[in-house]
Amino acid sequence: MDAYDPQTIEARWQKWWEDHRTFAVEGTAPRAKKFYCLTMFPYPSGVLHVGHGRNYIIGDVVSRYKMMRGYEVLSPMGWDAFGLPAENAAIKKGVLPRTWVEQNVAHMKTQFRRWGVGYDWRREVNTSTVDYYKWTQWIFLVLYERGLAYQRKAPVNWCPSCQTGLANEEVVEGKCDRCGAEVSKRDIPQWFFRITEYAQRLLDDLSELGEWPETVRTMQANWIGRSEGARVDFRLEDGTPLPVFTTRPDTLWGVTFMSLAPEHPLVRKLVAGTPREKEVLGFCDRCRLQSAAVRGDAAVEKEGVFTGAYVVNPVSGERVPLWVANYALMEYGTGAVMAVPAHDQRDFEFARKYGLPIKVVIQPTDPGTGPMACAPRPLRAEAMEAAYVDAGIMVDSGPMGGTASPAGIPEVIAYLAGEKMGDRTVHYRLRDWLISRQRYWGAPIPVIHCPTCGIVPVPVDQLPVELPAETEIEFPPKGESPLAKVASWVNTQCPTCGQAARRETDTLAQWLCSCWYFLRYTLTDAERRPNDKPFDRKKVDYWMPVDQYIGGIEHAVLHLLYTRFICKVLCDAGHVGFAEPFKALFTQGMICKQSSITHKLEKMSKSKGNVVSPDAVIAEYGADTQRLYTLFVGPPQKDAEWQDDAVVGARRFLDRVWRQVAERQEAMAGVRPYAGDGSDLDAAAKALWRKTHQTIRKVTDDIEHSWQFNTAVAAVMELANAIAEAPKSPAAAPVLRLALESMVRLLAPLVPHFAEELWVALGHEPSVLAAGWPEFSEAACQEDVLEIPVQVNGKLRAHVSVPAGASEEVVTAAAMGLEKVKEFIGAAPVRKVIYIPGRMLNIVAK
Ligand SMILES: [Zn+2]
Ligand SMILES: [Zn+2]
Repeated sequence: MDAYDPQTIEARWQKWWEDHRTFAVEGTAPRAKKFYCLTMFPYPSGVLHVGHGRNYIIGDVVSRYKMMRGYEVLSPMGWDAFGLPAENAAIKKGVLPRTWVEQNVAHMKTQFRRWGVGYDWRREVNTSTVDYYKWTQWIFLVLYERGLAYQRKAPVNWCPSCQTGLANEEVVEGKCDRCGAEVSKRDIPQWFFRITEYAQRLLDDLSELGEWPETVRTMQANWIGRSEGARVDFRLEDGTPLPVFTTRPDTLWGVTFMSLAPEHPLVRKLVAGTPREKEVLGFCDRCRLQSAAVRGDAAVEKEGVFTGAYVVNPVSGERVPLWVANYALMEYGTGAVMAVPAHDQRDFEFARKYGLPIKVVIQPTDPGTGPMACAPRPLRAEAMEAAYVDAGIMVDSGPMGGTASPAGIPEVIAYLAGEKMGDRTVHYRLRDWLISRQRYWGAPIPVIHCPTCGIVPVPVDQLPVELPAETEIEFPPKGESPLAKVASWVNTQCPTCGQAARRETDTLAQWLCSCWYFLRYTLTDAERRPNDKPFDRKKVDYWMPVDQYIGGIEHAVLHLLYTRFICKVLCDAGHVGFAEPFKALFTQGMICKQSSITHKLEKMSKSKGNVVSPDAVIAEYGADTQRLYTLFVGPPQKDAEWQDDAVVGARRFLDRVWRQVAERQEAMAGVRPYAGDGSDLDAAAKALWRKTHQTIRKVTDDIEHSWQFNTAVAAVMELANAIAEAPKSPAAAPVLRLALESMVRLLAPLVPHFAEELWVALGHEPSVLAAGWPEFSEAACQEDVLEIPVQVNGKLRAHVSVPAGASEEVVTAAAMGLEKVKEFIGAAPVRKVIYIPGRMLNIVAK
């Protein structure tokens, strides 16, 4: 055998897998033996670095492992090619988005190939191709027909840099998720999906996702943000209803003012023509520049302005002033907040700042415990330094006085309902999903605006609505879709009445494209022609749900929530037979590296000067070394540090295993792997046989149950140590062969080119994937146990059970742990321990 040369063998095996269609699947296995392994598809936004590699390498390990376990594994890949990143980058570089995407796809595909990750490329999707986005438009129409898509003019999140509206989920800490610009609000007509209609189901079905990380389920639950409370029907003095939502109706008698969100439509009407108009509207305009995240932050300085109007509290008939406050959010409840400064900290701070009254309506009752327990002193508003938010008893609360708080909330709600002053209600934090973008690089929203018929959906048989040619487009964003400038495209005929009409010029957010790509993968390119359906129900029902989804946690409330919603809609519409798309989810940690700029550990990025190119690592060490290092660097769900000088360690291990096989290749010729029960083996051979079975058990467990690839690799390293020390006698040859073959098969999912090559070197036909995963026997894993007599001061006092070959330290520790031995030693110090290996232990204690 030649020396290990990854450059030669990796290219050879990549070609072999392609020629033999190793990863092409037809879906012919019984359904119990299908396995859909899905790795989140990338934006073709440039070049992949080794940090990206973790995701795809883990997916490939799982796919290959399942193939070796006899599953038919669907492992596809594609490109999330529409959207702002591509368009922004194309503008910056002065190329057309499609050209830019195509170049990146070509390069990234080469990178995937060189990593040795196996995909069924006949199923590749690119969301920006017309054969694909035709069906993204179809999904929009499915929602439209079901009343789940609507256009409305409303204040929306606006990125001044990307010049487009954004969904709430795309605004992170008040900034654009794409470009980092501060997000403001703008009043423009936008398209929304009614995801709020599915809020409760999205919440309830989280309980079915037991194989998802707890963190992701919690993030989704918090994002949906269900809270139970009451609607209370306040009114303006002229009788205009102004309902509020509150989770604390038990504090209703303590309301001393009310706050409206600056965006509340009532504000403008209330102050129109009054002396306060200028001051109030000026305040509202200033608030709009602050993001909801900043305004909703408990630490933000509370500010407000009196509108001059009053509202009437239905339970007390009291007249309280109506303010506008920065901390009242249109997104929460009704945009009107009843203020109870005695029992809400934000209201308390606001009341103190503006000299508004504070009225205590919950008195603490807990007398404490112990001999010093006494009834707490009653709260007095003047003496309060903070709001009292704990439990107590309702006081000064009309007919509800004396009720326990918060335990009595249901009684208060029943009272409100009985008096027709309000009712029990559930509030969700989740808002409708803004899906229109004022940009070019997306699927056009398939509707037509007709002067007579209004909004008319494009009939399905007229799909796709193709984007106009890129050469006709002025790309730099101007706040209106660039499509609006292409008159020949915009002007069309109404599909209903035939009149001259205009096309919708907004495009769909790329989040919709990625809500169904995994359904498209169930068709091969041949099966997709003549493209008369988005997917085939039979194929989808066979492959779905996805058995294992792998991707980053940053998608927890974006892609993963949107996709669950779209799946439920498709299920309700009868297009698919399942309501949850992803059975199991794994979110990998990031690979970080010391930044040459900040000198801190940071996520790899060009701006931090810490990007490592896989091309360079592969050229120096080979793809299998990069794979092994990536898997060995730490538990895959945690962030890990990439260290350039540690990569060589992974390469050294592969060199060592290679030499082990090469040196024993001749001796192994014609030898069959040992298949006995161990009874005919001498001690040294038996030890290797046992170690082999234990390693198979450990690696299987690490991959199958806990995804601990790092400890799996460590276990194989231990087996390699045992092989190095194994006897070279002809009698031990079958056990040695078993050990070598098992090691190569265990390595096959991790370092696939390397394992294929060694499998052939051991005299087999390729592929090692077809050889299957090695089996272990529990009996073979059992250590021989010895009963060793234990003496204390020369007298036999007990027996201790230890594994054969246990060291003196292990035997001594086990013996000292025995109750009987402890008893005879008593308080005397141990002076000496004499161990005759395997025979006797004497403890001298005097
Ligand atoms: Zn932006
Ligand atoms: Zn019409």
